Amino acid sequence: METLNLDMAVGLLTRLSKHRIEDEDGGTHWVTALPLLVQLKMAIANSAMQPTVKGAGGTPIPLAAEAYDLYYGSDGIVPVTSHHWWLLHAVHKGQGRGKVATELRAWAMAARSSVEAFTEAERIICGWRDAIEGLLIPTRRWEIVGACPECQVSRVVDREEDGHIFTKPALSVVYGPDGAISNGVCAECGAEWRGDNLRKLAWLVSVQGRLS
Ligand SMILES: [Zn+2]
Repeated sequence: METLNLDMAVGLLTRLSKHRIEDEDGGTHWVTALPLLVQLKMAIANSAMQPTVKGAGGTPIPLAAEAYDLYYGSDGIVPVTSHHWWLLHAVHKGQGRGKVATELRAWAMAARSSVEAFTEAERIICGWRDAIEGLLIPTRRWEIVGACPECQVSRVVDREEDGHIFTKPALSVVYGPDGAISNGVCAECGAEWRGDNLRKLAWLVSVQGRLS
């Protein structure tokens, strides 16, 4: 049973992941991105943000609606939060019951017990990964885990229209129209990094990651 594809999909959905940044001069650096499930929830929360807060590369409203459908369900979509798959696939014997990410990992592990169960798990879980990436990548923004080198803030507080307060990483990387990384930005102090400075930002954040 070839599990690599499913394992990688589960990893991207439920764990922090490393992504490579390439400079125009060929240098390579790594940033840490939040789990796709977390980014999906943030995309939903962003739907209530004011246009001025969204800024360049922010989340447009239609994306948030699609993200909501993907997370909570809508016609023709197997939602991430549906307990349909959890109940159907009792193969996990109740282990890992709890948060969506935990349940998803437990399901992916337990599905290895049969080719049939594995094939279905792979189809649905890889489908979620593709759907979430398809939604998020057009926003051309990756949240970065780490403190801003300028203001030392790592998370910022934001507020939805209904007053619900949530936090998100201060740092993110914004993609240009060509799909290449254009700049890094801090939502707290507004600092921006491009070119050589972006390389410095990636380096500073990766050093923090190793120290923490
Ligand atoms: Zn800052």
